[in-house]
Amino acid sequence: MFDATTTASKMPRRSGMPTWWHLGGALAWIAIVLVYAFTVNSHFASVGYQVGLTALLGLGMVLVIGYAGQFSLAVGAFYGVGGYAAMIFTVKFGWYGLLALVIGAIAAGAIGMLVARPVFRLRGHFLAMATLALTQVFYLLFNNLEWTGGASGVGGIPALNLFGLQVTTPMGQVIVNWIVVGIVLWGALMLRQGREGRALLAIRGHEAASAAAGIDIAWSKTRIFTIAAVISAVAGSVYAFETKYVAPTDFDLSATIDILMIAVLGGMRSPWGAVIGAIVLEAINEITGLFLPAIFGIAGAGAARQLILGVILVVILVVRPDGVAGALGQFFFWAARKVRGEKGPADLAVEETGSETSDMAALRAKEDAADTRVIGDAVLRATGLVKRFGGVTAVNDVDLEIRSGEVLAVIGPNGAGKSTLVNLLSGNLVPTAGHIEISGVETTRLKAHEVARLGLARTFQTPALFEGMDVVSTVKVGAHTRGHVGMLRAAVPTIGATREERRIDDIARTVLNRLGLWTYVFRDAKNLSLGQQKRVEIARALVAAPKVILLDEPCAGLNKAEKATLMQLLRQLGREGIAVLVIEHDMEFVMSVADRVQVIDFGATLRVGTPAEVQADQAVIDAYLGVSHESSEVTGSVATTGAMN
Ligand code: ADP
Ligand code: MG
Repeated sequence: MFDATTTASKMPRRSGMPTWWHLGGALAWIAIVLVYAFTVNSHFASVGYQVGLTALLGLGMVLVIGYAGQFSLAVGAFYGVGGYAAMIFTVKFGWYGLLALVIGAIAAGAIGMLVARPVFRLRGHFLAMATLALTQVFYLLFNNLEWTGGASGVGGIPALNLFGLQVTTPMGQVIVNWIVVGIVLWGALMLRQGREGRALLAIRGHEAASAAAGIDIAWSKTRIFTIAAVISAVAGSVYAFETKYVAPTDFDLSATIDILMIAVLGGMRSPWGAVIGAIVLEAINEITGLFLPAIFGIAGAGAARQLILGVILVVILVVRPDGVAGALGQFFFWAARKVRGEKGPADLAVEETGSETSDMAALRAKEDAADTRVIGDAVLRATGLVKRFGGVTAVNDVDLEIRSGEVLAVIGPNGAGKSTLVNLLSGNLVPTAGHIEISGVETTRLKAHEVARLGLARTFQTPALFEGMDVVSTVKVGAHTRGHVGMLRAAVPTIGATREERRIDDIARTVLNRLGLWTYVFRDAKNLSLGQQKRVEIARALVAAPKVILLDEPCAGLNKAEKATLMQLLRQLGREGIAVLVIEHDMEFVMSVADRVQVIDFGATLRVGTPAEVQADQAVIDAYLGVSHESSEVTGSVATTGAMN
């Protein structure tokens, strides 16, 4: 199962798109835009450029809501900043249009960066309310400030001048808008394939696990929010140049809700959703416009259209929460596979070979006979750790030390405070009192991602995987700290970025091989069995090349042979110089894997010693191992479950 000799090349690799695909795609996009612009009548030309603008706004929304999972409705505010910047700097100052656009984008980006920190302290409904309030605040400003022209707005904005080329006709506007949409769409698609895009999807899926993988959550959210603010502001400026008029109602709450509707309709999971949603929404408008006025009269047509849209939205939310783009994507994926005759992951033969024997004591004896390990200096040291939750003292004055190359097992009844201890060590929780250091560097008050960067990796008791992410990507998230390519460089993949992604892919594949997961690489990690999920988590921790690894009950869901193999893996990690802390209930596993055992009871250390010492200790037997009084030998978790609850 953990066969390290298998080569990574055996694993299926999902090839990145070849360069000529990108070129071909770009040329096809330009061709479609040009054909549309030059063939449609003036009605569809003006519809065309407006749909381009809403698609652009939808793309910003997909980045923040779809990628990072942050339900922000601030788009109206930044859209307005762009629109008003274009108006003010051209109409009032007589500046060049493109310069006004850039100033608007910079202003929106600066505002985005400033408000992101406080705003993203909130989550869910509160975040939605706060960002909606931001849109409302800017609406009120546009409405009431003197230099924004008040409620009636300001006209006379000049058309966009692109280095001498005036974009005055709807045809030209269609071309400009859809080329900008194409660029942003491409950047968003590229981002999703790289390290920072994966980090955003990981944040959406599980914040604690993302932080433990070394991702600076607050900074990731801030950057994507800022990028979306800039995109929205560009859309606002282009809007102002094309309608030549801005008024507060262009950027109010209902504008934001319309964009949300587009993103939901198209699907938030993919940037294509914004483009498809904008087109589908307009198609619905056009089609209903053909017959609704005839049925309900001009006055009733608007209400009837809203009703139809509402019904369509509800149906989509129920049937396809990933929107039209999600449905189309699945269809194309299926069709491509049919055409190429590829097998689905389910058809791949699952090869799993356990160890030759599952007698752990025998395996350990064999390993010890050939043991060349050197136990080094303390990698992780904690003193006087205390954690209180209100009245509950979950961890009470615990000292703990793990040396490099050493396997320390932490055991104790359920609720003893073991998971809390791991959370303190990994920085996912801040201790009430005490001191923690990694290789001599104090980490007591550091955030989880900072602790991860110092070389600590961990797994969670309940598998902490990311919704909708396949196994290989999930594992690659663990290598976050081993890459450097930022969000903007990922969106414009340079040679360096591509090479780094390839390297991370190779690291992930080697570790997946080692953990016997190579047949599952493209499966959704959350759909695997508990035991497999636990192994994915271990793989995600190992790709970080940690100095110390903390495993919270890794044996859950593993059969006896798999436990034996895991035991060997942990011993092997020790030989590689990694400090290993493992929480486990299965006493046979604990006794054969550990160099030392630390027993925790009621949040405090009851005993630390070699497995034999701990097993013979009367206090430990009474508190934890003692259920099987009759038998002097404690053989398995079954014997202890009674004491664990
Ligand atoms: P173990 O992992 O040893 O089973 P835990 O560390 O999960 O134990 O829990 C130790 C104690 O702390 C339990 O009484 C638990 O209810 C309490 N506890 C853990 N996390 C929290 C929390 N976030 N808020 C309040 N109490 C908590
Ligand atoms: Mg626990």
